Amino acid sequence: MNDLYRALASVFPKDRITDDEVVLAGYAADSAIAPGSATFPSYAVLPKTTEEITHLLQIADRFRVPVTPMARGSNIAGMTVPVQGGIMADLRLMNRIIEINEDGAYAVIEPGVTFHDLYKELKKAGFFCHLPTAAGGSSPLANYLMRPSGNFSAKWDPDPILSLEVVTPQAGIIKTGSASFETAGWRARYHCFPDLTGLFTNSYGTLGIVTKGSVKIFDRGEEERLVLTTFDSFPPALEYMKRIIRRNVAESVTFWTWGWSMFHEMMLSKSEKMPEEMLKPDQKTPPPGVPFGIASARLSGYKEVVNAQETVCIKVARELGGDHLDNREARERYPGCYNYLHSYFVEGVLPKPGEESQIRAGLHLPGCLLTAEPSKLIEIEKFMWDLAQREFKPPYFFRALPYSHGREFFFAFVVYVTGSLIEEREYLQRLKGIYGTLYRDLLRNYGGVMFRYRKDPTFFGMTGMYGELLRRIKKLVDPNNIMNPGMLLF
Ligand SMILES: Cc1cc2nc3c(=O)[nH]c(=O)nc-3n(C[C@H](O)[C@H](O)[C@H](O)COP(=O)(O)OP(=O)(O)OC[C@H]3O[C@@H](n4cnc5c(N)ncnc54)[C@H](O)[C@@H]3O)c2cc1C
Repeated sequence: MNDLYRALASVFPKDRITDDEVVLAGYAADSAIAPGSATFPSYAVLPKTTEEITHLLQIADRFRVPVTPMARGSNIAGMTVPVQGGIMADLRLMNRIIEINEDGAYAVIEPGVTFHDLYKELKKAGFFCHLPTAAGGSSPLANYLMRPSGNFSAKWDPDPILSLEVVTPQAGIIKTGSASFETAGWRARYHCFPDLTGLFTNSYGTLGIVTKGSVKIFDRGEEERLVLTTFDSFPPALEYMKRIIRRNVAESVTFWTWGWSMFHEMMLSKSEKMPEEMLKPDQKTPPPGVPFGIASARLSGYKEVVNAQETVCIKVARELGGDHLDNREARERYPGCYNYLHSYFVEGVLPKPGEESQIRAGLHLPGCLLTAEPSKLIEIEKFMWDLAQREFKPPYFFRALPYSHGREFFFAFVVYVTGSLIEEREYLQRLKGIYGTLYRDLLRNYGGVMFRYRKDPTFFGMTGMYGELLRRIKKLVDPNNIMNPGMLLF
């Protein structure tokens, strides 16, 4: 290890490389991997440039040492925990917003830029970025590379990535999209050859380190508005989302069951105590006076158009048995919920509590996340409630939102684990076991696809030549499998 340290120290100054166990311990756990159960990395480095990353990967490759890239570390699935040890490449200092191109409606950013950073700069320019309902301290680039959920632009497409710069252990630096041509700039994902940006999406740091990327940005419009609709059950809410997205009435829409509303009230009150109703045994039926769920739609554009869109949203909701919830009434009756949804959908601020460090310290929200065709979602909802009643402890709830013009939907069934990690270790273990077989059942029975890879190589094994081709590409760019091998993808 001394030789490795010497090699790293030839690239990084002392204050950007550490083997301090106290620091390393922070990288060795997250809400999916309990402290003490994963190997510590040997070193953590804080690169600042593409050149440093290139040297880092060359050194790691020479020493055959795993490298785990981490942007902000707020994923909740152990994706940046270096379970096989090695070097943590903590990218938080690569935090430059390189360009906000208002003419081409894109921004070029580094992986350490946070949603808070980007949102603030974009707002000044009259733009916003694609927002997942994640934490504001997480990285847009890392999030977009994993296909974000909770996005603004459900209407057209959920994929905000354009061009990338990626450093690989043995294939050097690769630029994708329009940036692959020296003079074409960063504006486009596609040109006249096959799309290689897509190769690096959902690769979870197993093929290389993305050092910069261009992402789509969206005009905020003259008017931005939140339209809320309550529904008594899921099927009409699903139909509502499908219609208003496919008919271009709203920019995005999400459906949240009542548990979320209570959760958002809890966030506003800053209470650590969960309301009794949230823990009631029958989670499917809301407490008296509380709607089963709320659909939140974002409208933006010219005021006259937004007025008309709002009228149509209300009409569609009525046709389906939903009730329009006036913003003023929502603010009075459900202030936490209103605050959260307004902040997210209209202001464009991610209001979740805590930055990445707090999140890594132990918030347990294991979720079952998948995408499926609209018709299958009703069956999946029923299946999940039945499963929850048998296996999960309250509280649990779900949200759903359309993708790709309402062709498929994202469905996240979340079990909020209330006790401490120590107290709940056994329960979390049991949940993990359940999710282990659950995703296979959901795929087999409903065609529901795991939204983010959960370290189960059998899924890759089901993809035939697709998987084989990727394995060959992997051999080309990272033959020694040093890139995030703990993901168990390759
Ligand atoms: C409370 C909470 C709520 C959340 N809700 C949502 C949600 O609604 N929607 C959603 O999409 N996500 C959600 N998440 C998940 C997570 O916050 C996001 O996915 C987050 O944006 C990921 O960004 P990050 O900077 O934390 O990535 P990291 O955790 O640092 O990295 C994620 C993965 O990408 C890889 N990676 C990171 N940077 C690079 C790079 N430069 N090059 C190559 N590989 C890289 C890592 O190795 C890892 O595999 C939530 C998380 C929490 C804690």
